[in-house]
Amino acid sequence: MAETAFDYIIVGGGVAAGYAAREFVKLGIQGKLAIISKEAVAPYERPALSKAYLFPEGAARLPGFYVCVGSGGERLLPEWYAEKGIELILKTEIVRANLSAKTLRSADGKTFKYGTLIIATGSTVIKLSDFGVQGADAKGIFYLREIEDADKLVEAIQKSEGKKCVVVGGGYIGLELAAVMKLNKFDVTMVYPEPWCMPRLFTSSIAAFYEGYYENKGVTIIKGTVAVGFDSDSNGNVKVVKLKDGRALEADIVIVGVGARPLTNLFKGQVEEEKGGIKVNGFFQTSFDGVYAVGDVVTFPMKLYNETRRVEHVDHARKSAEQAMKAIKASQEGKTIEEYDYLPYFYSRAFDLSWQFFGDNVGETVLFGDANPSSPKPKFGSYWIKDGKVIGVFLEGGTPEENKAIATVARVQPPVDSLDELQKEGLNFACKM
Ligand code: FAD
Repeated sequence: MAETAFDYIIVGGGVAAGYAAREFVKLGIQGKLAIISKEAVAPYERPALSKAYLFPEGAARLPGFYVCVGSGGERLLPEWYAEKGIELILKTEIVRANLSAKTLRSADGKTFKYGTLIIATGSTVIKLSDFGVQGADAKGIFYLREIEDADKLVEAIQKSEGKKCVVVGGGYIGLELAAVMKLNKFDVTMVYPEPWCMPRLFTSSIAAFYEGYYENKGVTIIKGTVAVGFDSDSNGNVKVVKLKDGRALEADIVIVGVGARPLTNLFKGQVEEEKGGIKVNGFFQTSFDGVYAVGDVVTFPMKLYNETRRVEHVDHARKSAEQAMKAIKASQEGKTIEEYDYLPYFYSRAFDLSWQFFGDNVGETVLFGDANPSSPKPKFGSYWIKDGKVIGVFLEGGTPEENKAIATVARVQPPVDSLDELQKEGLNFACKM
């Protein structure tokens, strides 16, 4: 079968691919670029899927959230790619990559040859069936990663005759989905094994606010146990979630958000891996010459903390993609650029809440502000202090200026003499910088 050849191929058509394409054009990189994606649509802002995409009214729909609107940029409609001479090869899953031969093979038997490869395959959801949970393949159990998954969920929300939803998982996806299902007037129960929600980021005090707020909204929270099985009706539709502690929860819809794993399979044994991701340097070059990798799939040097990490958040997907393109351009011109110097930034929105976090969440913590979930306008935050310096800041309900101020603190890492003083100063500590 004939090969199609491109100077550059981005494999994966998500957030990182879209931002990489924009940077490619902005930098005027010469040559033919193709994006190959198994999704049926051009790159879009994935975070919308667990938020406005599921709203009962005024729901977000494409073309509204194609990249790069999420960072306030121009929206890249499918026509944009055509105008710029970039080939969007959609509904095409790559099933084999041969880095030595510089070829990719698709599920439908096509071969693509490239000069430079940019891996942007992202992550995929971890499924309960991966752990052999009984009944986990019942109808009515949903996962959310791609727009196709979101469409199936929207259809189920509209069709569901009952109104009981169980959300399995207490991470940010679980929290966002529990909120949006409540907006869709479901009776929502969240189940997670940890002592509080979002334990990888939240302190118990931060989590107590969100759990209280959700409970005030009528969401039931069951902690410290896991789903160990599901019962279905004669049509195969899920009806009951069985918990390890012996309880059984009625359910018409179950949504599972128990984490993701990076899609590295295609490249196993061909590139070095570390901490579960494809290992790259500060220019997003993999161990294989001419092959770059960006976004969720990479483990990269986090210069600020002098260690390597993998980050599954949209801000890094955008910035890593831009950095890789800058590095490609620089290498063609025989120039050098600064190494990637990433400041971790995570955010989430649910109900009327909106939080941002910058930096690292290790060390002692200081909670400030009004963290009462029953307040009419709660606003609070937390500092993380290590070796006498503030290295991480969380803020719920901040203005754009305040969020900018906490980002500066996390980057500058100012010293603090007294945690009591810091607590008293609260947000002013950040805003006066
Ligand atoms: P992705 O955007 O996942 O793109 C990967 C693409 O590669 C997909 O199109 C996939 O189909 C394609 N692909 C994979 N394998 C192949 C193959 N073999 N052949 C062809 N194509 C392939 N982050 C935040 O910071 N804040 C949020 O509020 C937030 N909300 C989120 C909500 C949801 C529902 C999800 C799923 C994620 C959310 N994230 C959020 C995380 C963020 O979306 C990801 O970090 C980001 O999308 C990563 O970008 P990426 O390009 O690396 O991967």
